[in-house]
Order: sequence, then C-alpha cells, then structure tokens
Amino acid sequence: MIQTGITNDLTQQYISLEDRYGAHNYHPLPVVLQRGEGVYVWDVNGKRYYDFLSGYSAVNQGHCHPRIINALIKQAQQLTLTSRAFYNDLLGEFEKLITSLFGYDKVLPMNTGVEAVETAIKLCRRWAYEVKGIAPGKAKIIVCNGNFHGRTTTVISFSTDEASKRNFGPFTPGFELISYDDLEALTKALDDNNVAGFLVEPIQGEAGVRVPQKGYLAKAKMLCEEKKVLFIADEIQTGLARTGKMLCCDHEEVKPDILLLGKALSGGTMPVSAVLASDEIMLTILPGEHGSTYGGNPLACRVGIESLKVLVDENMASNSEEMGILLRTELRRINSIHIETIRGKGLLNAIIIKHAEKEAAWQLCLELMKNGLLAKPTHGDKIRLAPPLLITAEQIFECVKIIEDSLKILN
Ligand code: PLP
Repeated sequence: MIQTGITNDLTQQYISLEDRYGAHNYHPLPVVLQRGEGVYVWDVNGKRYYDFLSGYSAVNQGHCHPRIINALIKQAQQLTLTSRAFYNDLLGEFEKLITSLFGYDKVLPMNTGVEAVETAIKLCRRWAYEVKGIAPGKAKIIVCNGNFHGRTTTVISFSTDEASKRNFGPFTPGFELISYDDLEALTKALDDNNVAGFLVEPIQGEAGVRVPQKGYLAKAKMLCEEKKVLFIADEIQTGLARTGKMLCCDHEEVKPDILLLGKALSGGTMPVSAVLASDEIMLTILPGEHGSTYGGNPLACRVGIESLKVLVDENMASNSEEMGILLRTELRRINSIHIETIRGKGLLNAIIIKHAEKEAAWQLCLELMKNGLLAKPTHGDKIRLAPPLLITAEQIFECVKIIEDSLKILN
C-alpha cells in the first residue's frame, strides 16, 4: 500500500493520474518531482530533496548539468536523427572518444542498457561460433545468481528474481547460473568447451550493492582467459565514475573483453548505451545483422561526448572515491541497532536494515523523504545510497545527519 498520509492534494492529484492511466509496473515513493539541479530535486510543492538514487545511477554528473543540457539543446536545434542508413557528422567523433577513453578497437551504440546486454549476448554467440569454433546452437554464457541486466525476455530468462520472471515464459536457453563472488563455481562452470562468455556485474547494484571479495574480478578474468571465454562486464550501473574509478573493473586493473555502458552515458537526459570490444569480436557482425533506429543518432552522440567529457574534466571519479569513503565512515558512526551493514564502493552504497517489521526500510525511506532525502529500498531491506557524483563533503555531513535522525522512526 502506498502511504499517502504525508502527501497533500496537489501531490495526490499527480499520483492518482498515473495510477489511473499508467501501467502498475512500479511502486514509487509518494513524491512528485518537477525540477532538478546538481544533487537536488524539487517536488511540485517546491520542497527540495537530496537525490540519493540519481536515476539508478544515470545522473552521475548531477541533474541538468549545464554543459550537457547546452549540448543537448544546441544539437536538438540542428539535427537529431538520421538513422544509420546515412552517415552523420557526430557518430565518428563519439566512437573515437569512447574507444580511446576505454581502450577498445570498436564501439556499437545502442539506447537502453538492456539493449547493450542483448547486443553483447549476440556478439558473444557470434564469436563463439565463428572464432572459437563452438558447434552451432551449443554456445553457453555463464551468469550469476542475483544478477540484474534488464527486462527483455532473453535477459530475464537468466534472472533469479521470481518477480521478474513470473508467467513471462517460455524463456531463452543457453545460460548457466552460478553463485556470485564464487571463483570455485566459476572454475567448475568453465570446465565445458561450449562456454563462450561470462557475463557479470562488477558490483551487483540491484541486488543491494553486493561488492565481491577483493581480487574476484581479476581472478575471474584470468580463469576466463585460460579457457578462451569472453569476460563480459556489465558496467551499466557501476561504470562512468560511480564506484570511484571510471570503470569498476579499473579497481582490479581488469580489461573486459566486452564492456557494457549505459545510464550516465547521457547524464540522465536520454537513453544512450554502448558495447565496446576488439575487432575480433565486433567485426563478426556484418551490415544488416544488428541495429537500432535510434542507436548512434547525432543527438545521442553529442550528448554522449559531453557527458564523458564532463566526467573527466570535473574529476568525478576521484570525488566519488573520496566522498564514498566519507559517506561510509560517517554512516558507520551512527549508533543504531537497525543498521545491519553498510557497504559499497565510491558513491554506490547501501545500508541493510535490520528490523522485525518487513516494511521497515520502506518506512525509513518515507521518513527520509519527509526530512529531505530521496532513496528507495531494493529487495525489501536494502536501501541504496547513490547521490550524484558532484556531492560535497558538507552535503555528505548534512545527509548523514538526515539519515541518523530518520532512523529514529524505527525505534
Ligand atoms: N544492467 C545493469 C547492471 C543495470 O543496473 C540496468 C538497469 O538498472 C540494466 C542493465 C538495464 O538498463 P536499462 O534499464 O537502461 O535497460
């Protein structure tokens, strides 16, 4: 049940409108947002909040970053979509920037994150048959329990979240689940010549910011290399400075064979995603064999270029690293029996709530909202704390105070 006790008539009007005419596939907090700037958003009543979700990490650069918005407006007045039937004057520039920034031969631009995942699956299978030499139809991709890679039918085929799958079958075969952060399980699963790829989130974001043990990614990459299996990193949530480095894999100096980016690639303005790989992998797809009407459109490219440059020019990775350490340190000072764990990397963090009441985390989020901070529970008891990356130390102190005060509601 949505709590409406703290909403007023205006808020309720917007909520009722969505409830009446929109599909019920989300369960939002009862706040109606109207404006955003940097780390803040404002609701329709003019109340200001810290945004600790950042559009599921799409708004790393902060809401309505002036450079990104200016780039968007200027390009929107000039040319937005050509389709890939023709060349445009920005795609090459975007491709050159993103491949050189991350050290890849080629990029394939898409729109949403899940489209990047789908593209990676297709590329991995192509490579399996045409380069590795797996027999037709036999290629397998290893995935992890607790994964979240998006919502298409193929991608939910290997989800372990019952709510994501219920009555959506039949599902796509060719995936093998192992437990996350388990090198022994990976070693065992790799002992099969039909394995083509290992698709993994460097930190499981949706699962509640599950950070694997130190060395997991580096060792997993090594094991994959030994078996000629592609290491596919889904950095759609963890990438682009969110965890304190440009890529989460950078913490262990791992270079994925296929790298997936999305979300903050447009600073929260439009869906822009990308798949990066070597020529050996990427050139297995020929003209007409994969694509998307909007993928690589000039507006997306212009916004993508500016979004990447803002992250670099404003040192957002190092601020994320520093502010993340400060946030976790300050949160750990809070004396509350209701905090089970605080975990995270950079500014991708979570608190795990311990309480007899099942709805405790939701109640806490309502109280946080009342006190001017927006966050949302995931899987019941986990609350992700992921503000935009330009947050300052002073703001972190203020936010921790809000969290500390709000926790009292659980007593
Ligand atoms: N992969 C990861 C790790 C994600 O966190 C998400 C979205 O939360 C996706 C893929 C899917 O992205 P999108 O919602 O843009 O399709």
